[in-house]
Amino acid sequence: MSDSSDRPARKAVVIGGASGIGWATAQALAAEGCRITVADLNAAGARSRAAELGAPHTAAAVDVTDEDSVQRLFDDAGPLDIAVKCAGFSNVGLITDMPVADFRAVIDVCLTGSMIVMKHAGRHLRDGGSLVSITSLNGRQPGAGMSAYCAAKAGLSMLTQVAALEMGPRGIRVNAVAPGFVHTPLTAAAASVPGVIEDYVDNTALGRAGTPQDIANAVVYLCSPGSSWLTGEVLDINGGAHLKRYPDVMGHVMRLVEQS
Ligand code: NAD
Repeated sequence: MSDSSDRPARKAVVIGGASGIGWATAQALAAEGCRITVADLNAAGARSRAAELGAPHTAAAVDVTDEDSVQRLFDDAGPLDIAVKCAGFSNVGLITDMPVADFRAVIDVCLTGSMIVMKHAGRHLRDGGSLVSITSLNGRQPGAGMSAYCAAKAGLSMLTQVAALEMGPRGIRVNAVAPGFVHTPLTAAAASVPGVIEDYVDNTALGRAGTPQDIANAVVYLCSPGSSWLTGEVLDINGGAHLKRYPDVMGHVMRLVEQS
């Protein structure tokens, strides 16, 4: 799948590239011969990741909730072949207790931020380019205490389909990957709650949680010529968790709180 050496390197921007799935994706696309801009809210993290990749890869600071910042990122990047939006986070709380500002904060990064990235990436992607977002198993499976995250990721799945329709005439493919439980800094706290990982794994077909590389492999495929007839798709990469039920994360947290 690697680019042949006489073809110019494909240019890719990976947002949320300083950590977890984004970092694995940046490395995987670099290994495919792409020239990467590692973009992240964590500017120092992005710089050190780009330095780890070495020249010609670069770093940029971006906040997906700030349209000016996203516009600057893509204006500076110029014409590109691949944009991957990984930035995201979740909070936990019952709807009846949740400050609306907390709900909005997750929607802002995971859903509105994805639209802002699609808007500006869509203006800079070359015809035939590829845009990939990271959504979640929670876009189709509800988790108690995760209202904002579930709603944002479900919205992102539909946004992906609309964008695929709109950008299809230019040959731009718009897809998403929906990971199940993947070990990253984002999930470290949940993974440390007794019972959470076991509950997830028991409710998969393949009997394990995921690695960032599992997800990066899917992103590389969605950006490659091998998927050239694939658009508007949300690819479940979760070991078969979508075939069963979502773990009772909130229940495990409550039991831990009661014991302490
Ligand atoms: P992570 O915390 O390791 O990495 C997320 C990165 O996004 C961080 O570097 C962070 O600085 C950056 N970021 C956060 N807010 C940002 C903003 N406003 N602008 C720019 N960058 C910002 O998390 P991860 O587990 O690698 O998650 C990556 C994506 O995968 C997220 O969208 C997450 O919802 C999704 N996802 C993760 C899992 C999992 O189990 N880890 C499962 C399903 C979906």
